[in-house]
Amino acid sequence: MKNIRLPRPDFGKLRVRAAFAAVLCVLAGAGLFWIWNTADGTGIGFPCLVHELTGLYCSGCGASRALRALLHFQFYKALRYNAAFTLLFPFFAAYFLALGYSFVRYGEDRVSRRVPVTPLWVILAVVLAFGILRNLPAFLFLAPTFI
Ligand SMILES: [Zn+2]
Repeated sequence: MKNIRLPRPDFGKLRVRAAFAAVLCVLAGAGLFWIWNTADGTGIGFPCLVHELTGLYCSGCGASRALRALLHFQFYKALRYNAAFTLLFPFFAAYFLALGYSFVRYGEDRVSRRVPVTPLWVILAVVLAFGILRNLPAFLFLAPTFI
């Protein structure tokens, strides 16, 4: 079987990639600033379609509030809003920062192929289990909690 390689998009020179990354950083900064100022019981945060339609908490429910709490260095509050997001956030933040650096520096993703796949499957299973458990009466402490 022949290997099929998809053409990679050409982002050109370092200056172009740096400008692209700068735009993404500005957008991310604007998003973080918006979350900094909202999403803590104000009702202005990101609505969850799963929760709106079913009344159940998905794995991501409370994540924007948890991010806001993390931005304010309120770690216990962040854990109560979404423990899975709070515990995984440093790893995903480090991954995306490394990915951004690799993109700007080399123009390609030199990070993803170094990340082993098995831990990612474990993380996915844990996140899915978290989404199920937080809806069971015995594990209601995992549901987003207003504190
Ligand atoms: Zn949700």
